[in-house]
Amino acid sequence: MQAADKKSVAIIGAGIFGLSLAVALRDKNYVVNVFDRNVYHENGYDPEGDDVQAASVDLNKIFRASYGTKLHYQRLAMESRNAWMIQDNKRGFLGDNDENGGRLFVNSGMLRVQPTTHLDTLEKETLANMERDGLRGTQFVKSSPNDRERAESLGWKAKLLDFDIPETSPTQTFDAVLDSLAGFVRCSSACTYWYDISVAKGVKFNFGKEGSVESLVKIPCSAGTLKEKVIGLKTRDGVIHNADTVVVAAGSFSTQVLPELSYHLESSAGSVASFKINPSQKDLWDKYSPEKFPVITWKASPRNRSGRDTGSIYALPRTPEGYIKIGFRGIKFTNFQPAPEGATFTQDGKWSVPLPADECKTLPEPAMYAMKQFVSIFLPEFEDVPFSTTKLCWYTDSLDNSFVIDYVPDFAENSVFICTGGSGHGAKFLPVLGEHAADILENGDRSTTYMRTFWRWRPGMPRRNGLEDGPGGPRDISGEFA
Ligand SMILES: Cc1cc2nc3c(=O)[nH]c(=O)nc-3n(C[C@H](O)[C@H](O)[C@H](O)COP(=O)(O)OP(=O)(O)OC[C@H]3O[C@@H](n4cnc5c(N)ncnc54)[C@H](O)[C@@H]3O)c2cc1C
Repeated sequence: MQAADKKSVAIIGAGIFGLSLAVALRDKNYVVNVFDRNVYHENGYDPEGDDVQAASVDLNKIFRASYGTKLHYQRLAMESRNAWMIQDNKRGFLGDNDENGGRLFVNSGMLRVQPTTHLDTLEKETLANMERDGLRGTQFVKSSPNDRERAESLGWKAKLLDFDIPETSPTQTFDAVLDSLAGFVRCSSACTYWYDISVAKGVKFNFGKEGSVESLVKIPCSAGTLKEKVIGLKTRDGVIHNADTVVVAAGSFSTQVLPELSYHLESSAGSVASFKINPSQKDLWDKYSPEKFPVITWKASPRNRSGRDTGSIYALPRTPEGYIKIGFRGIKFTNFQPAPEGATFTQDGKWSVPLPADECKTLPEPAMYAMKQFVSIFLPEFEDVPFSTTKLCWYTDSLDNSFVIDYVPDFAENSVFICTGGSGHGAKFLPVLGEHAADILENGDRSTTYMRTFWRWRPGMPRRNGLEDGPGGPRDISGEFA
Protein backbone atom coordinates (compact mmCIF):
# COMPACT_ATOMS: atom_id res chain seq x y z
CA MET A 1 0.00 0.00 0.00
CA GLN A 2 1.34 3.44 -0.95
CA ALA A 3 1.48 6.11 1.72
CA ALA A 4 -1.20 8.09 -0.12
CA ASP A 5 -3.57 5.10 0.09
CA LYS A 6 -3.45 4.83 3.86
CA LYS A 7 -6.75 4.69 5.66
CA SER A 8 -8.35 7.43 7.69
CA VAL A 9 -8.77 6.61 11.36
CA ALA A 10 -11.03 8.34 13.88
CA ILE A 11 -9.92 7.74 17.47
CA ILE A 12 -12.43 8.29 20.30
CA GLY A 13 -10.46 9.30 23.40
CA ALA A 14 -7.36 11.47 23.83
CA GLY A 15 -6.13 9.69 26.96
CA ILE A 16 -2.96 7.62 27.06
CA PHE A 17 -4.24 4.86 24.77
CA GLY A 18 -5.67 7.25 22.18
CA LEU A 19 -2.64 9.56 22.14
CA SER A 20 -0.11 6.76 21.91
CA LEU A 21 -1.96 5.11 19.03
CA ALA A 22 -2.51 8.43 17.24
CA VAL A 23 1.22 9.16 17.11
CA ALA A 24 2.12 5.65 15.95
CA LEU A 25 -0.51 5.70 13.19
CA ARG A 26 0.63 9.13 11.97
CA ASP A 27 4.16 7.73 11.78
CA LYS A 28 2.72 5.11 9.43
CA ASN A 29 1.06 7.86 7.38
CA TYR A 30 -2.56 7.30 8.37
CA VAL A 31 -4.89 10.28 8.42
CA VAL A 32 -5.72 10.54 12.13
CA ASN A 33 -8.57 12.46 13.75
CA VAL A 34 -8.92 12.30 17.56
CA PHE A 35 -12.15 13.12 19.39
CA ASP A 36 -12.48 13.89 23.10
CA ARG A 37 -15.22 15.64 25.04
CA ASN A 38 -12.70 17.19 27.41
CA VAL A 39 -11.05 20.42 26.33
CA TYR A 40 -7.47 19.26 26.79
CA HIS A 41 -6.12 21.97 24.47
CA GLU A 42 -7.42 24.51 27.02
CA ASN A 43 -6.86 22.78 30.36
CA GLY A 44 -3.57 21.03 29.50
CA TYR A 45 -4.73 17.74 31.09
CA ASP A 46 -4.84 19.62 34.42
CA PRO A 47 -4.85 16.94 37.15
CA GLU A 48 -6.47 19.37 39.58
CA GLY A 49 -9.44 20.02 37.28
CA ASP A 50 -12.66 18.94 38.98
CA ASP A 51 -14.86 17.71 36.19
CA VAL A 52 -12.41 15.74 34.03
CA GLN A 53 -13.00 12.01 34.19
CA ALA A 54 -10.05 10.19 32.66
CA ALA A 55 -7.59 7.84 34.33
CA SER A 56 -4.76 9.42 32.33
CA VAL A 57 -5.39 12.85 33.81
CA ASP A 58 -3.45 12.56 37.05
CA LEU A 59 -0.36 13.80 38.83
CA ASN A 60 1.52 10.54 38.62
CA LYS A 61 1.26 6.78 38.19
CA ILE A 62 3.59 4.01 39.19
CA PHE A 63 6.16 2.71 36.76
CA ARG A 64 7.25 -0.86 37.48
CA ALA A 65 8.73 -3.66 35.43
CA SER A 66 7.99 -6.30 38.08
CA TYR A 67 5.16 -8.41 36.70
CA GLY A 68 5.32 -11.74 38.50
CA THR A 69 5.05 -14.50 35.90
CA LYS A 70 3.89 -12.16 33.12
CA LEU A 71 7.21 -11.90 31.36
CA HIS A 72 5.66 -10.25 28.29
CA TYR A 73 4.57 -7.25 30.37
CA GLN A 74 7.97 -7.20 32.09
CA ARG A 75 9.54 -7.02 28.65
CA LEU A 76 7.12 -4.32 27.45
CA ALA A 77 7.80 -2.30 30.60
CA MET A 78 11.56 -2.45 29.96
CA GLU A 79 10.98 -1.32 26.38
CA SER A 80 8.84 1.52 27.66
CA ARG A 81 11.34 2.50 30.35
CA ASN A 82 13.96 2.95 27.68
CA ALA A 83 11.56 5.04 25.61
CA TRP A 84 10.69 7.30 28.59
CA MET A 85 14.41 7.92 29.15
CA ILE A 86 14.95 8.76 25.48
CA GLN A 87 12.10 11.29 25.59
CA ASP A 88 13.40 12.83 28.85
CA ASN A 89 16.87 13.09 27.32
CA LYS A 90 15.41 14.79 24.25
CA ARG A 91 13.67 17.24 26.58
CA GLY A 92 17.01 18.09 28.18
CA PHE A 93 16.72 15.94 31.31
CA LEU A 94 19.91 13.92 31.30
CA GLY A 95 20.87 11.39 33.98
CA ASP A 96 18.89 12.00 37.17
CA ASN A 97 18.27 15.67 36.45
CA ASP A 98 14.72 16.52 37.54
CA GLU A 99 14.99 20.28 37.63
CA ASN A 100 11.70 21.89 38.70
CA GLY A 101 10.04 18.48 38.60
CA GLY A 102 10.27 18.48 34.82
CA ARG A 103 11.05 14.85 34.05
CA LEU A 104 8.28 12.59 32.75
CA PHE A 105 9.78 9.39 34.21
CA VAL A 106 11.35 9.57 37.66
CA ASN A 107 13.45 6.62 38.75
CA SER A 108 12.69 7.02 42.45
CA GLY A 109 12.69 3.26 43.02
CA MET A 110 9.77 1.33 44.47
CA LEU A 111 9.70 -0.49 47.77
CA ARG A 112 7.42 -3.52 47.59
CA VAL A 113 6.59 -3.90 51.28
CA GLN A 114 5.57 -7.44 52.17
CA PRO A 115 2.61 -8.39 54.39
CA THR A 116 4.90 -9.98 56.99
CA THR A 117 8.56 -10.36 57.94
CA HIS A 118 8.97 -12.74 54.94
CA LEU A 119 8.69 -12.55 51.17
CA ASP A 120 5.32 -13.76 49.84
CA THR A 121 4.86 -16.17 46.91
CA LEU A 122 4.24 -13.53 44.24
CA GLU A 123 7.36 -11.73 45.34
CA LYS A 124 9.43 -14.89 45.00
CA GLU A 125 8.02 -15.41 41.48
CA THR A 126 8.84 -11.84 40.54
CA LEU A 127 12.41 -12.21 41.73
CA ALA A 128 12.78 -15.52 39.86
CA ASN A 129 11.59 -13.87 36.63
CA MET A 130 13.91 -10.95 37.16
CA GLU A 131 16.72 -13.48 37.57
CA ARG A 132 15.70 -15.24 34.34
CA ASP A 133 15.83 -11.95 32.42
CA GLY A 134 19.16 -10.93 33.95
CA LEU A 135 17.56 -8.20 36.06
CA ARG A 136 17.95 -9.63 39.57
CA GLY A 137 20.81 -7.21 40.26
CA THR A 138 18.31 -4.33 40.11
CA GLN A 139 16.30 -5.75 43.06
CA PHE A 140 17.34 -5.49 46.71
CA VAL A 141 15.76 -7.67 49.40
CA LYS A 142 15.76 -5.83 52.72
CA SER A 143 16.37 -8.95 54.80
CA SER A 144 19.29 -10.15 52.64
CA PRO A 145 22.71 -9.02 53.89
CA ASN A 146 24.17 -9.48 50.39
CA ASP A 147 21.47 -7.34 48.80
CA ARG A 148 21.87 -4.64 51.46
CA GLU A 149 25.57 -4.52 50.74
CA ARG A 150 24.90 -4.21 47.00
CA ALA A 151 22.31 -1.50 47.66
CA GLU A 152 24.86 0.42 49.69
CA SER A 153 27.52 0.25 47.00
CA LEU A 154 25.03 1.36 44.33
CA GLY A 155 23.59 4.25 46.35
CA TRP A 156 20.15 2.74 46.98
CA LYS A 157 20.45 1.75 50.66
CA ALA A 158 18.73 4.85 52.09
CA LYS A 159 15.53 3.76 50.32
CA LEU A 160 15.45 0.33 51.97
CA LEU A 161 13.16 1.77 54.61
CA ASP A 162 12.06 0.01 57.80
CA PHE A 163 8.39 0.07 58.70
CA ASP A 164 7.21 -1.38 62.02
CA ILE A 165 4.61 -4.13 62.07
CA PRO A 166 1.87 -2.88 64.41
CA GLU A 167 1.30 -4.73 67.66
CA THR A 168 4.51 -6.78 67.57
CA SER A 169 6.62 -7.10 70.68
CA PRO A 170 9.54 -6.94 70.40
CA THR A 171 8.90 -4.73 67.40
CA GLN A 172 9.40 -6.41 64.04
CA THR A 173 9.57 -4.75 60.63
CA PHE A 174 8.00 -5.74 57.30
CA ASP A 175 10.34 -7.35 54.83
CA ALA A 176 10.53 -5.46 51.54
CA VAL A 177 12.11 -5.51 48.10
CA LEU A 178 13.47 -2.31 46.59
CA ASP A 179 13.07 -2.24 42.83
CA SER A 180 15.63 0.17 41.43
CA LEU A 181 14.13 -0.02 37.93
CA ALA A 182 10.85 1.42 39.12
CA GLY A 183 9.51 4.85 39.95
CA PHE A 184 6.68 6.88 38.55
CA VAL A 185 5.56 8.76 35.47
CA ARG A 186 4.10 12.25 35.53
CA CYS A 187 0.92 11.33 33.79
CA SER A 188 -0.74 14.62 32.92
CA SER A 189 2.57 16.20 31.87
CA ALA A 190 3.23 13.18 29.67
CA CYS A 191 -0.20 13.49 28.03
CA THR A 192 0.43 17.17 27.29
CA TYR A 193 3.81 16.27 25.80
CA TRP A 194 2.30 13.51 23.60
CA TYR A 195 -0.53 15.82 22.60
CA ASP A 196 2.05 18.35 21.36
CA ILE A 197 3.92 15.61 19.48
CA SER A 198 0.65 14.48 17.88
CA VAL A 199 -0.23 17.99 16.75
CA ALA A 200 3.26 18.52 15.35
CA LYS A 201 2.96 15.31 13.36
CA GLY A 202 -0.37 16.34 11.88
CA VAL A 203 -2.95 14.55 14.05
CA LYS A 204 -6.19 16.56 14.10
CA PHE A 205 -8.02 16.99 17.41
CA ASN A 206 -11.66 17.76 18.08
CA PHE A 207 -12.46 18.76 21.67
CA GLY A 208 -15.50 19.73 23.74
CA LYS A 209 -18.88 19.56 22.02
CA GLU A 210 -17.19 19.02 18.65
CA GLY A 211 -15.24 16.11 20.11
CA SER A 212 -17.96 14.51 22.19
CA VAL A 213 -19.01 11.34 20.38
CA GLU A 214 -22.72 10.63 20.46
CA SER A 215 -22.84 7.53 18.26
CA LEU A 216 -21.10 5.48 15.60
CA VAL A 217 -22.54 5.75 12.09
CA LYS A 218 -23.45 2.29 10.77
CA ILE A 219 -24.66 1.08 7.38
CA PRO A 220 -25.69 -2.37 6.17
CA CYS A 221 -22.79 -4.12 4.55
CA SER A 222 -23.06 -4.95 0.87
CA ALA A 223 -20.59 -7.84 0.96
CA GLY A 224 -23.03 -10.68 1.70
CA THR A 225 -22.86 -10.48 5.51
CA LEU A 226 -25.45 -9.54 8.08
CA LYS A 227 -22.88 -7.51 9.94
CA GLU A 228 -23.07 -3.75 9.79
CA LYS A 229 -20.17 -1.58 8.75
CA VAL A 230 -19.21 1.53 10.67
CA ILE A 231 -18.41 4.43 8.35
CA GLY A 232 -17.72 7.12 10.90
CA LEU A 233 -19.07 8.81 13.99
CA LYS A 234 -21.48 11.55 14.97
CA THR A 235 -20.50 14.21 17.48
CA ARG A 236 -22.73 16.13 19.86
CA ASP A 237 -22.78 19.18 17.58
CA GLY A 238 -24.60 17.02 15.00
CA VAL A 239 -21.66 16.69 12.61
CA ILE A 240 -20.86 13.33 11.00
CA HIS A 241 -17.18 12.51 10.56
CA ASN A 242 -16.36 9.74 8.10
CA ALA A 243 -13.48 7.35 8.69
CA ASP A 244 -12.32 4.02 7.31
CA THR A 245 -11.78 2.73 10.83
CA VAL A 246 -13.19 4.04 14.10
CA VAL A 247 -11.07 3.30 17.18
CA VAL A 248 -12.70 3.19 20.60
CA ALA A 249 -10.12 4.33 23.14
CA ALA A 250 -12.57 5.86 25.58
CA GLY A 251 -11.20 4.23 28.74
CA SER A 252 -13.83 3.48 31.37
CA PHE A 253 -16.52 4.95 29.09
CA SER A 254 -15.78 2.55 26.24
CA THR A 255 -18.75 0.28 26.89
CA GLN A 256 -21.05 3.29 26.76
CA VAL A 257 -19.61 4.30 23.39
CA LEU A 258 -19.83 0.72 22.09
CA PRO A 259 -22.14 -1.55 24.16
CA GLU A 260 -20.81 -4.59 22.21
CA LEU A 261 -17.80 -4.38 24.55
CA SER A 262 -19.86 -5.13 27.64
CA TYR A 263 -18.71 -8.76 28.01
CA HIS A 264 -15.06 -7.79 27.76
CA LEU A 265 -14.77 -4.74 29.98
CA GLU A 266 -16.04 -3.40 33.28
CA SER A 267 -15.59 0.02 34.83
CA SER A 268 -14.54 -0.01 38.46
CA ALA A 269 -13.19 2.63 40.80
CA GLY A 270 -9.87 2.94 42.56
CA SER A 271 -9.74 5.19 45.62
CA VAL A 272 -7.21 8.00 45.57
CA ALA A 273 -6.42 10.57 48.26
CA SER A 274 -3.67 13.07 48.90
CA PHE A 275 -2.01 15.19 51.54
CA LYS A 276 -0.58 18.55 50.56
CA ILE A 277 2.56 19.94 52.08
CA ASN A 278 4.45 23.10 51.28
CA PRO A 279 8.17 23.90 51.12
CA SER A 280 8.06 25.66 54.50
CA GLN A 281 7.43 22.25 56.09
CA LYS A 282 11.07 21.58 55.37
CA ASP A 283 11.46 18.21 57.13
CA LEU A 284 8.42 16.71 55.41
CA TRP A 285 9.26 18.35 52.10
CA ASP A 286 12.70 16.69 52.13
CA LYS A 287 11.69 13.35 53.65
CA TYR A 288 8.99 12.69 51.06
CA SER A 289 10.86 14.01 48.02
CA PRO A 290 11.49 11.55 45.15
CA GLU A 291 15.21 11.79 45.92
CA LYS A 292 14.65 10.37 49.42
CA PHE A 293 11.36 8.49 49.34
CA PRO A 294 10.54 5.63 46.96
CA VAL A 295 7.12 4.62 45.70
CA ILE A 296 5.72 2.36 48.43
CA THR A 297 3.37 -0.53 47.71
CA TRP A 298 1.96 -2.71 50.43
CA LYS A 299 -0.25 -5.74 50.28
CA ALA A 300 -1.60 -6.46 53.74
CA SER A 301 -2.91 -9.83 52.65
CA PRO A 302 -3.11 -11.46 56.07
CA ARG A 303 -6.48 -10.26 57.22
CA ASN A 304 -6.72 -8.23 60.38
CA ARG A 305 -8.38 -9.49 63.56
CA SER A 306 -11.89 -8.70 62.38
CA GLY A 307 -11.28 -10.65 59.17
CA ARG A 308 -11.03 -7.56 57.00
CA ASP A 309 -8.72 -7.43 54.00
CA THR A 310 -7.20 -3.99 54.07
CA GLY A 311 -4.56 -4.77 51.47
CA SER A 312 -3.11 -3.35 48.32
CA ILE A 313 -2.27 0.27 48.93
CA TYR A 314 0.42 2.51 47.57
CA ALA A 315 1.90 5.95 48.05
CA LEU A 316 4.01 8.08 45.74
CA PRO A 317 6.70 10.60 46.69
CA ARG A 318 5.54 14.21 46.88
CA THR A 319 5.01 16.09 43.66
CA PRO A 320 6.62 19.46 42.84
CA GLU A 321 3.30 21.01 43.97
CA GLY A 322 3.59 19.19 47.32
CA TYR A 323 1.00 16.42 46.91
CA ILE A 324 1.66 13.01 48.45
CA LYS A 325 -0.75 10.67 46.68
CA ILE A 326 -2.12 7.48 48.20
CA GLY A 327 -4.13 4.89 46.30
CA PHE A 328 -6.21 1.97 47.55
CA ARG A 329 -6.88 -0.85 45.12
CA GLY A 330 -7.75 -3.57 47.64
CA ILE A 331 -11.37 -3.24 46.56
CA LYS A 332 -12.22 -1.96 43.11
CA PHE A 333 -15.71 -0.50 43.53
CA THR A 334 -18.43 -1.00 40.93
CA ASN A 335 -21.48 1.11 40.11
CA PHE A 336 -24.16 -1.12 38.60
CA GLN A 337 -26.84 0.71 36.63
CA PRO A 338 -29.51 -0.50 34.20
CA ALA A 339 -27.79 -1.38 30.91
CA PRO A 340 -29.09 -0.08 27.57
CA GLU A 341 -30.63 -2.38 24.98
CA GLY A 342 -27.51 -2.67 22.81
CA ALA A 343 -25.44 -4.19 25.61
CA THR A 344 -24.56 -7.71 24.51
CA PHE A 345 -23.85 -8.80 28.07
CA THR A 346 -25.47 -7.73 31.33
CA GLN A 347 -25.75 -9.06 34.86
CA ASP A 348 -29.37 -8.89 36.07
CA GLY A 349 -29.90 -6.36 33.27
CA LYS A 350 -27.19 -4.10 34.68
CA TRP A 351 -23.61 -3.08 33.98
CA SER A 352 -21.03 -1.09 35.91
CA VAL A 353 -20.25 2.39 34.62
CA PRO A 354 -18.42 5.39 36.15
CA LEU A 355 -20.36 7.55 38.59
CA PRO A 356 -20.91 11.17 37.53
CA ALA A 357 -17.86 13.35 38.33
CA ASP A 358 -19.58 15.21 41.19
CA GLU A 359 -20.27 11.90 42.97
CA CYS A 360 -16.65 10.79 42.82
CA LYS A 361 -15.30 12.93 45.63
CA THR A 362 -16.42 10.79 48.55
CA LEU A 363 -14.55 7.55 49.19
CA PRO A 364 -16.38 4.45 50.43
CA GLU A 365 -15.78 3.58 54.08
CA PRO A 366 -13.63 0.44 53.49
CA ALA A 367 -11.21 2.54 51.42
CA MET A 368 -10.98 5.25 54.09
CA TYR A 369 -10.42 2.63 56.77
CA ALA A 370 -7.63 0.92 54.83
CA MET A 371 -5.96 4.16 53.85
CA LYS A 372 -5.93 5.47 57.41
CA GLN A 373 -4.32 2.26 58.61
CA PHE A 374 -1.72 2.58 55.84
CA VAL A 375 -1.04 6.21 56.76
CA SER A 376 -0.49 5.34 60.42
CA ILE A 377 2.25 2.87 59.46
CA PHE A 378 3.87 4.41 56.41
CA LEU A 379 3.23 8.17 56.69
CA PRO A 380 3.00 8.55 60.47
CA GLU A 381 3.27 12.36 60.50
CA PHE A 382 -0.11 12.47 58.73
CA GLU A 383 -1.98 10.12 61.05
CA ASP A 384 -4.33 12.83 62.32
CA VAL A 385 -4.25 15.05 59.25
CA PRO A 386 -7.37 15.16 57.04
CA PHE A 387 -6.82 14.33 53.36
CA SER A 388 -6.48 17.36 51.09
CA THR A 389 -8.26 15.60 48.25
CA THR A 390 -10.20 12.37 47.78
CA LYS A 391 -11.39 10.95 44.46
CA LEU A 392 -12.70 7.79 42.84
CA CYS A 393 -10.71 7.20 39.66
CA TRP A 394 -12.17 4.72 37.14
CA TYR A 395 -10.35 1.65 35.88
CA THR A 396 -11.24 -0.17 32.65
CA ASP A 397 -10.94 -3.77 33.79
CA SER A 398 -10.63 -6.57 31.26
CA LEU A 399 -11.41 -10.25 31.75
CA ASP A 400 -7.81 -11.09 32.64
CA ASN A 401 -6.11 -7.75 33.34
CA SER A 402 -4.56 -7.68 29.87
CA PHE A 403 -5.43 -4.85 27.46
CA VAL A 404 -7.93 -5.35 24.62
CA ILE A 405 -6.45 -4.11 21.34
CA ASP A 406 -8.02 -5.64 18.25
CA TYR A 407 -10.75 -5.33 15.65
CA VAL A 408 -14.27 -5.87 16.97
CA PRO A 409 -15.56 -8.88 15.00
CA ASP A 410 -19.21 -7.78 15.30
CA PHE A 411 -18.58 -5.21 12.53
CA ALA A 412 -17.78 -5.77 8.89
CA GLU A 413 -14.62 -4.83 7.01
CA ASN A 414 -12.43 -4.10 10.01
CA SER A 415 -14.34 -0.90 10.54
CA VAL A 416 -14.14 -0.84 14.37
CA PHE A 417 -10.98 -1.26 16.40
CA ILE A 418 -10.74 -1.19 20.17
CA CYS A 419 -7.74 0.06 22.15
CA THR A 420 -8.41 0.05 25.87
CA GLY A 421 -8.72 -2.26 28.89
CA GLY A 422 -5.87 -0.63 30.85
CA SER A 423 -6.91 -2.56 33.97
CA GLY A 424 -4.96 -0.26 36.27
CA HIS A 425 -1.54 -0.62 34.67
CA GLY A 426 -1.58 1.08 31.26
CA ALA A 427 -0.05 4.48 31.98
CA LYS A 428 3.56 3.29 32.14
CA PHE A 429 3.34 2.07 28.53
CA LEU A 430 2.45 5.39 26.91
CA PRO A 431 5.65 5.72 24.85
CA VAL A 432 5.42 2.24 23.27
CA LEU A 433 1.84 1.03 23.50
CA GLY A 434 0.79 2.79 20.31
CA GLU A 435 3.49 1.16 18.16
CA HIS A 436 2.34 -2.31 19.17
CA ALA A 437 -1.32 -1.33 18.74
CA ALA A 438 -0.68 0.24 15.32
CA ASP A 439 1.01 -2.97 14.18
CA ILE A 440 -2.17 -4.88 15.11
CA LEU A 441 -4.43 -2.30 13.45
CA GLU A 442 -2.39 -2.43 10.26
CA ASN A 443 -1.64 -6.14 10.08
CA GLY A 444 -4.20 -8.00 12.21
CA ASP A 445 -3.09 -11.62 12.52
CA ARG A 446 0.03 -10.89 10.48
CA SER A 447 1.26 -8.40 13.05
CA THR A 448 4.59 -9.27 14.60
CA THR A 449 4.23 -7.69 18.03
CA TYR A 450 4.76 -10.15 20.85
CA MET A 451 1.70 -8.64 22.58
CA ARG A 452 -0.69 -9.76 19.81
CA THR A 453 -1.78 -12.97 21.59
CA PHE A 454 -2.42 -11.23 24.87
CA TRP A 455 -4.36 -8.26 23.53
CA ARG A 456 -6.64 -10.01 21.06
CA TRP A 457 -10.45 -10.07 21.26
CA ARG A 458 -11.17 -12.93 23.68
CA PRO A 459 -14.82 -14.06 23.39
CA GLY A 460 -14.24 -17.50 24.91
CA MET A 461 -12.53 -16.26 28.03
CA PRO A 462 -14.50 -16.75 31.25
CA ARG A 463 -15.44 -13.68 33.25
CA ARG A 464 -12.79 -13.40 35.94
CA ASN A 465 -10.73 -10.64 37.52
CA GLY A 466 -13.78 -9.56 39.56
CA LEU A 467 -15.94 -9.15 36.45
CA GLU A 468 -17.89 -12.21 37.55
CA ASP A 469 -19.15 -10.47 40.72
CA GLY A 470 -22.10 -8.57 39.27
CA PRO A 471 -24.47 -6.18 41.02
CA GLY A 472 -25.37 -6.23 44.67
CA GLY A 473 -22.07 -7.59 45.99
CA PRO A 474 -19.78 -5.88 48.48
CA ARG A 475 -17.97 -3.99 45.69
CA ASP A 476 -21.15 -2.43 44.29
CA ILE A 477 -21.53 1.11 45.64
CA SER A 478 -24.47 2.12 43.45
CA GLY A 479 -26.81 1.96 46.46
CA GLU A 480 -24.68 4.41 48.45
CA PHE A 481 -25.43 7.22 46.06
CA ALA A 482 -29.04 6.36 45.21
C1 LIG B 1 -6.91 4.55 40.29
C2 LIG B 1 -6.02 4.19 39.14
C3 LIG B 1 -4.68 3.96 39.37
C4 LIG B 1 -3.83 3.59 38.32
N1 LIG B 1 -2.51 3.39 38.58
C5 LIG B 1 -1.66 3.10 37.57
C6 LIG B 1 -0.28 2.95 37.83
O1 LIG B 1 0.19 3.10 38.97
N2 LIG B 1 0.55 2.66 36.79
C7 LIG B 1 0.07 2.52 35.51
O2 LIG B 1 0.86 2.24 34.61
N3 LIG B 1 -1.25 2.65 35.25
C8 LIG B 1 -2.12 2.94 36.24
N4 LIG B 1 -3.45 3.09 35.99
C9 LIG B 1 -3.97 2.80 34.64
C10 LIG B 1 -3.85 3.95 33.68
O3 LIG B 1 -4.14 5.16 34.30
C11 LIG B 1 -4.81 3.66 32.54
O4 LIG B 1 -4.52 2.39 31.98
C12 LIG B 1 -4.75 4.69 31.43
O5 LIG B 1 -4.68 5.99 31.92
C13 LIG B 1 -5.97 4.53 30.57
O6 LIG B 1 -5.91 5.43 29.51
P1 LIG B 1 -7.10 5.48 28.44
O7 LIG B 1 -6.65 6.36 27.37
O8 LIG B 1 -7.51 4.09 28.11
O9 LIG B 1 -8.35 6.04 29.24
P2 LIG B 1 -8.68 7.52 29.80
O10 LIG B 1 -7.49 8.15 30.36
O11 LIG B 1 -9.85 7.36 30.71
O12 LIG B 1 -9.09 8.33 28.52
C14 LIG B 1 -10.29 8.08 27.83
C15 LIG B 1 -10.71 9.36 27.17
O13 LIG B 1 -11.90 9.10 26.42
C16 LIG B 1 -12.71 10.23 26.49
N5 LIG B 1 -14.11 9.88 26.19
C17 LIG B 1 -14.90 8.99 26.84
N6 LIG B 1 -16.11 8.92 26.27
C18 LIG B 1 -16.09 9.79 25.23
C19 LIG B 1 -17.05 10.18 24.24
N7 LIG B 1 -18.29 9.66 24.19
N8 LIG B 1 -16.69 11.11 23.33
C20 LIG B 1 -15.45 11.65 23.34
N9 LIG B 1 -14.49 11.31 24.26
C21 LIG B 1 -14.82 10.39 25.17
C22 LIG B 1 -12.53 10.74 27.91
O14 LIG B 1 -12.88 12.10 28.03
C23 LIG B 1 -11.05 10.47 28.14
O15 LIG B 1 -10.26 11.60 27.87
C24 LIG B 1 -4.34 3.46 37.02
C25 LIG B 1 -5.70 3.68 36.77
C26 LIG B 1 -6.53 4.05 37.81
C27 LIG B 1 -7.99 4.29 37.54
